[in-house]
Amino acid sequence: MALKIWLNGKLVDESAAKISVFDHGLLYGDGVFEGIRIYSGKIFEHQAHIDRLYDSSKGIRMEIPMTKSQMMQAVEKTVQTNGIVEGYIRLIVTRGIGSLGLNPFLCESPGIIIIADSIQLYPEELYEKGLKIISATTVRNHPLAISPQVKSLNYLNNILAKIEALDSNVPEAIMYNHIGYVAEATGDNVFIVRKGVVYLPPVEAGSLEGITRGVVISLAQAEGIKVVEKNLTRFDLYSCDELFLTGTAAEVIGVVEIDSRVIGDGKPGPITKLLREKFYKYAHGK
Ligand code: PMP
Repeated sequence: MALKIWLNGKLVDESAAKISVFDHGLLYGDGVFEGIRIYSGKIFEHQAHIDRLYDSSKGIRMEIPMTKSQMMQAVEKTVQTNGIVEGYIRLIVTRGIGSLGLNPFLCESPGIIIIADSIQLYPEELYEKGLKIISATTVRNHPLAISPQVKSLNYLNNILAKIEALDSNVPEAIMYNHIGYVAEATGDNVFIVRKGVVYLPPVEAGSLEGITRGVVISLAQAEGIKVVEKNLTRFDLYSCDELFLTGTAAEVIGVVEIDSRVIGDGKPGPITKLLREKFYKYAHGK
């Protein structure tokens, strides 16, 4: 069935959901977005996603012409209209229609798009076996240039690393920052486990402050597991007991090999499994 898309205040048919070629979201990647899950008909961590969207927007000096609560209502309405129970929301705010020049202040008003659809997940088998990944040579954007905390419409940095992964026949790649510390994966945050302690890079190392990352930190702490933010090197990934990634689409997924080095005993480890299970229960309200 064709979807109804929220486009600038109206729900329109998918076939009519078109935007201008002069939209700076397209011309310059000038805009921000969110990817949000729907579990059992409920929007997962809705407030946190909306807060991050507005922070991203502030980071690029763009004022969203809706209050946060209006935005949340628009998202709810789009989900309900499409009758999505298990799915994914793509919420996009573009700079809007402008001229061919860079000047964002010549753009009329930000464009708002909300798509609620089903989601293509990693097959269950990959969660049981774990992922094989590589280290990308593409360096993560310098965190003091455009902050990776801004979830912007320009994903070229991550896409170049993703291409490296796909060229190596693996689905993900670790990106390192300009100093050489682990930043994140192309669309996920990175965690390791060593001697029962969970370590992860601070966001200042150059990662998006993942909503899943935040939930997983809390779930680990609630289990009495120590969680430490610290810069991680490639050696830390090679020598850890467990490695896992977190993200809206992937949730919690174990990594069992990186750059052909086997991690732990080559299977997703016990803490990874525990946190995946706890995450599942939390997401489904159990
Ligand atoms: N880093 C990047 C670059 C991402 O695109 C994502 C997915 N949106 C994440 C991390 C994970 O963030 P979240 O848990 O909010 O999906």
